[in-house]
Amino acid sequence: MPKAQETVLEIDLKALKHNFEHLKSKLQNNTKFLAVVKAFGYGSDSCEVASYLQELGVDYFAVAYVNEGVTLREAGITTPILVLHPQAVNLKTLIAHSLEPNLYNAKILKEFIELASAEKLNNYPIHIKFNTGLNRLGFWESDIEYIVSEIKKTDAVKIASIFSHLAASEDLNEKKFSLNQIASFNTISKKIINKLPYNPMFHMCNTSGILNYPEAHFDMVRAGIGLYGFGNSEKENKNLIPIATLKTIISQIHNIEKGESVGYNRAFKSNSFLKTATLPIGHADGIGRQYGNGKGFVTIKGQQAPIVGNVCMDMIMVNVTHIDCEEGDEVIVFGKDTTTTAEQLAEATNTISYELITSVSQRVKRFFLK
Ligand SMILES: *Cc1c(COP(=O)(O)O)cnc(C)c1O
Repeated sequence: MPKAQETVLEIDLKALKHNFEHLKSKLQNNTKFLAVVKAFGYGSDSCEVASYLQELGVDYFAVAYVNEGVTLREAGITTPILVLHPQAVNLKTLIAHSLEPNLYNAKILKEFIELASAEKLNNYPIHIKFNTGLNRLGFWESDIEYIVSEIKKTDAVKIASIFSHLAASEDLNEKKFSLNQIASFNTISKKIINKLPYNPMFHMCNTSGILNYPEAHFDMVRAGIGLYGFGNSEKENKNLIPIATLKTIISQIHNIEKGESVGYNRAFKSNSFLKTATLPIGHADGIGRQYGNGKGFVTIKGQQAPIVGNVCMDMIMVNVTHIDCEEGDEVIVFGKDTTTTAEQLAEATNTISYELITSVSQRVKRFFLK
């Protein structure tokens, strides 16, 4: 691995393959695998990640928004792409790029069918989402009659899949709630199969659903965070490898005397001598202000260096008083060692790995290990 000479996000595609194979090993042979690559592939690089997973034989992709799907198509991705949260204004673009919409309420179902009919489409694949307890997006069980009657009126669309989403798949204290969600989805699937002349796919599980609820894998699973190396529990983390390492370097070292301050608004005032290192990474790169003032830390020569004072837009200062380091040395912000994971850094500010990794801004160069 080359030493960092600037701030870089290193993406390890071998780790991605490992995670993909690990999650796949939890499935029955005929269960399909959908890879969630929204938000730039959880902050990594959706095109590189999707190209590699396509090579490895993934069955489906999902993104949140239409423009994310367009980016994948323009990069040559030919695998089916489910758009989890399309807005009506983008439906023409969605069709033009052969993306498949999640239709989650009567309004967007109607708008899509009208558009598909006007464009003389035939059996265009759509996906219908049911709300089973997350209360975010989706039809209710009581809408089944309505959906089926709308679908039967037209040849323009065909339901490729029916799905739902677990609210607390990673939290085993909520097991009863999750099992209830699974039971309602089973009821929905039975009712709808009886009314449709063909069999759509059914799917419900995200990463923690795959790991904790094998009985709910149905025809396909939707894996996001697990592919990127996080299992939402200590036990599951052991089997996965974080694919992204955020690295930077020491730009400058300062000796701070007792009574001096560091950074904007003089948020840190020293009551003894300390040595600080200034790093070229700030809140515009994805290290939010909440990581400042001793909450967040980086790792230099295997030792933790807490952030001193406020996080600036383009820089942070860290305490290296007890670390034998010099200007130009490499710094790990988060990575794959158990002491440096994004999950650990995220926990320091009461957030989750998902937020930290998807926050690494597009200004940070991506570097791929193949
Ligand atoms: C983001 C998302 C996923 C992936 O969840 P992970 O916990 O990252 O595996 C799956 N399904 C839906 C509907 C999502 O929005």
